[in-house]
Amino acid sequence: MSLHCNRNLATQRETFVTHLECSMTGERYEADRLHGLSRAGRPLLVRYDLEGVRGALTKEALAERPHDMWRYAELLPVRRVENVTSLGENTTPIVPLAAMGARLGASQLLVKDEGRLPTGSFKARGLTMGVAMAKELGVTRIAMPTNGNAGAALAAYATRAGIETIVLCPDDTPEINVREIALQGARVYRVNGLIDDCGKIVGEGAAAGHWFDLSTLKEPYRIEGKKTMGLELAEQLGWRLPDVIFYPTGGGTGLIGMWKAFAELEAIGFIGPERPRMVAVQAEGCAPMVKAWEEGEEHAPRWEGAHTVAAGIRVPKAVGDFLILRAVRESGGFAMAVSDDELMQAVEEAGREDGLLLCPEGGATLAAYKRALEQGLVKPEEQALLFNCATGLKYPMPDRSKTIDRHQPIDFASL
Ligand SMILES: *Cc1c(COP(=O)(O)O)cnc(C)c1O
Repeated sequence: MSLHCNRNLATQRETFVTHLECSMTGERYEADRLHGLSRAGRPLLVRYDLEGVRGALTKEALAERPHDMWRYAELLPVRRVENVTSLGENTTPIVPLAAMGARLGASQLLVKDEGRLPTGSFKARGLTMGVAMAKELGVTRIAMPTNGNAGAALAAYATRAGIETIVLCPDDTPEINVREIALQGARVYRVNGLIDDCGKIVGEGAAAGHWFDLSTLKEPYRIEGKKTMGLELAEQLGWRLPDVIFYPTGGGTGLIGMWKAFAELEAIGFIGPERPRMVAVQAEGCAPMVKAWEEGEEHAPRWEGAHTVAAGIRVPKAVGDFLILRAVRESGGFAMAVSDDELMQAVEEAGREDGLLLCPEGGATLAAYKRALEQGLVKPEEQALLFNCATGLKYPMPDRSKTIDRHQPIDFASL
């Protein structure tokens, strides 16, 4: 039964969570306690009794449930349903780019359109989970650094949960993001620096006891929310995975989360050992993962002077760098950087040819796909899934309109 149907029945659920684990050292941590990073300063991963889930969950039972991310309750950490402050985290559609695919000679070019989620981005998946767990564990005040979309999702869910929220963003964060954060009940501050400079202030405030730090991967549960992308796409494709996934990579929560999802799905017998090649896409102006991947490094040093129009992937330093790089390598995938011109051109093409408005980060995945196809890294007949992670409506758009003077004769043939 999903959390939604459970609401008026028993609210205390046994979850299958057994413990948390340091992603670097494997050290165990107790569940049901408030945790940030591990003692090694690395992300904590939630571990489940997957044998238990295997016995409790069938594909048939799942098929009966509402189409939202809570349908995967057995693989999620929330114990008490009343701690979920849902805004309707609907399943997002997989949309073929048929016209572009035909032009490129690609038969299975698909976009998972995450822009349909509450607050207009896939940050909703991670933040609804992070906030539910924060509420469950008694947090009353949260702070977070953001490039925009995460702050908006945090503001919305925390406000619903009755949790006070302070959001710090770089001072050049798109106006629409800064304003939506404030309108959804958070206190928002512009900082003269980048997202990791904001994160430093949030970390200092947390250490001094002013708030709980909900930064990307610095608490264990956002990854569990983002993991639902992997569960969901597998189910949507009939429990088969695509050949290759293109993911716009900032902090990498989604890529790490999907990689975890696939392992869990295999452990419960829903899929086999086959995996998609995972492609981490970044912008040329901020490509720490691409550089580390090319150099064969396990960690990625801070990228200095980061700049790109794709604000969601302007992340100079990621605490989960080694998890991103590991997933890319284990999958046989690769990392690729595209220029701002290429990604904006891809946004234009998807809109003009297929009527699908991508965000710049989504455009980056399409630009990377096109280049990978050219370079033979992806074959035209392979099924490729691109992530459009936010609605294109949140971003500035070029003005292509012309005017009509209704007082003059109208030359209809020229319209
Ligand atoms: C946050 C964000 C990303 C990057 O997601 P991660 O999982 O943190 O790497 C990409 N695109 C958009 C629009 C985002 O908001």
